[in-house]
Amino acid sequence: MLKGGEFLVSKTAHNDLFIPEEWSEEQLMIRDMVKDFCDQEILQPMRKSGRELDASKDRDEIIRLLDKSAELGLCGLAIPQEYGGMDLDFNTGLLFGEAISNGFSFATTIGAQTSIGSLPIVYYGTNAQKEKYLPKIGSAEYKASYALTEPSAGSDANSGKTKATLTADGKSYLLNGQKMWITNGGFADIFIVFAKIDDDKNLSAFIVEKAFGGITLGEEEKKLGIKGSSTVQVFFNDCPVPTENILAERGDGFKIALNILNSGRIKLSAGSIGGSKYALSQSINYSNERKQFDKSIAEFGAIKYKIGEMATKIFAAESAIYRTGKHIDEKEAALIDAGKSKSEAKVLGLREYTIECALLKVYGTEVLDYCIDETLQIHGGMGYSAEAGIEMGYRDSRITRIYEGTNEINRMLSFGELMKRAFQTKEIDLIAAGKKIPMRFFKELFSATYAVGQEDRIVENMKLLFIALSGIAGQKLKLKMIDEQEIIMNLSDILSEIYISESLALRVVKLRTMSIAKEKMAIVEKMMQLHIYESLRKVRTAAESEIDSLPEGTKQGLQRKMVKRFAKKYAVNPKDLRRDIADYFIQKNDYTF
Ligand SMILES: Cc1cc2nc3c(=O)[nH]c(=O)nc-3n(C[C@H](O)[C@H](O)[C@H](O)COP(=O)(O)OP(=O)(O)OC[C@H]3O[C@@H](n4cnc5c(N)ncnc54)[C@H](O)[C@@H]3O)c2cc1C
Repeated sequence: MLKGGEFLVSKTAHNDLFIPEEWSEEQLMIRDMVKDFCDQEILQPMRKSGRELDASKDRDEIIRLLDKSAELGLCGLAIPQEYGGMDLDFNTGLLFGEAISNGFSFATTIGAQTSIGSLPIVYYGTNAQKEKYLPKIGSAEYKASYALTEPSAGSDANSGKTKATLTADGKSYLLNGQKMWITNGGFADIFIVFAKIDDDKNLSAFIVEKAFGGITLGEEEKKLGIKGSSTVQVFFNDCPVPTENILAERGDGFKIALNILNSGRIKLSAGSIGGSKYALSQSINYSNERKQFDKSIAEFGAIKYKIGEMATKIFAAESAIYRTGKHIDEKEAALIDAGKSKSEAKVLGLREYTIECALLKVYGTEVLDYCIDETLQIHGGMGYSAEAGIEMGYRDSRITRIYEGTNEINRMLSFGELMKRAFQTKEIDLIAAGKKIPMRFFKELFSATYAVGQEDRIVENMKLLFIALSGIAGQKLKLKMIDEQEIIMNLSDILSEIYISESLALRVVKLRTMSIAKEKMAIVEKMMQLHIYESLRKVRTAAESEIDSLPEGTKQGLQRKMVKRFAKKYAVNPKDLRRDIADYFIQKNDYTF
């Protein structure tokens, strides 16, 4: 089984890859049921009333939506069956995340209920804690939230000042402090609170009931977007929490927070792709409808460019998201076979793919930003107006680059974790993989461009380039590298291009072995070619910026030659590819993949 980050140094066989074309009937039924729920309960009422949900005015409606989704079993998807949930596998949970994004801000509300607000109990709770809380969270009798961030502790979450002090009788902790930006906070019954016991260096985590007392709430925050999601400050003033409500061990809170964020990151990526698909479908529809200069705007190359790009980015990103989701499930199953408990296996499975989860969070949310921005552009003035609903998506999507760790933090994290696994824990052997570089460097001298059919080699060369560049930068900068974030961001972007390109190329190889309609397959091949063309361009840009940013005398000449040979052009016509891809969906009047 491929270990986390190991994609960089080894080859995956296409048969070992899960692809979205393999969803079962049951999984697709769940997806469709969730989309129907969003359409009937959220989108249609919103269209009728002409206004978006607003947490400061529509609290009862938001609560009703949570209750209704619980009736359909949606609040218990990740909860074990013995506690009343459905205990779905992780990848189906990602598909749920993709589908629920059609509910706009409600996706954040139910995300807090089903993910960050309840998974700490699923993963780390004692049997008694699980029995007490999970059935009620699954039925939405308890609304859940996750309280980590503080006014002075955002990205640096472990620096929180909220304190927990043991009472004289030793039966409870008194919580004192302030949390900020707490999703669902306005109506939550349960808060997963991170606080330091006495003068501990690390956070501990607690299950806190609103009913314990000593909790006051701030006003609903006035936000740019996701206005239908409740976000408040939460104040703890001698809030008594029974000692049995601590999660895992004292000092484990930061570890819990990080592991929960791994899950949240990839789920957010899947949600972002759901939002992107929704936006693209709207773009295609509108392009067909809207006429200017006596033509529908879908006939213009500038519009086809956007549609072709959006479709390709979405198809590429989802290839990597569901590949990773399946890896997480497989790792969990292997750990259970090896004797680990189910909860422990879930945590370790997620931790294994920390690098991929961080890369995907960044990639998926930036695809969403691209898609919603171009969707607004395609709608012209109508996109800017509140009438069409596009501007709401534009505002709602912006949060995705900020929460679950900002994209800056996730770029540092993916690269930092890779270096840790390469040089501290020695799980990934970059040195052995790098031994191929001289021979390949020599061989690549003989061709000026890559040709269609060489995608496997292109991905392998991107990997070698990354290993060479990060190796040279590391040798030169050593421990100072950590302060050279601009360089790390360049390298992290190359790493994500590798992972996404490889996942897409493998998906296409697997599709070739399946019975896929000829017309669809032709478009899939074109999307892969366009993606690889663009990916190589991005790798070249990031690599050149990285090399130019290094101190003088860092083998710049050699590195530039490597870029020229390993990330050379791919001989395709991007304009023709984009047009063909766009025409396919324009003709279908929808994004049908
Ligand atoms: C609508 C909304 C809902 C939220 N829901 C929740 C919730 O339910 N529970 C919860 O606990 N939190 C929640 N958050 C908080 C969210 O996770 C934080 O906003 C986020 O982690 C960033 O922290 P910050 O806002 O303090 O920004 P800061 O950490 O102050 O960051 C400011 C800027 O500096 C950059 N930066 C910071 N540190 C570094 C570094 N080391 N290297 C490079 N760049 C850096 C950041 O990338 C960012 O661009 C929510 C936030 C919002 C806006």
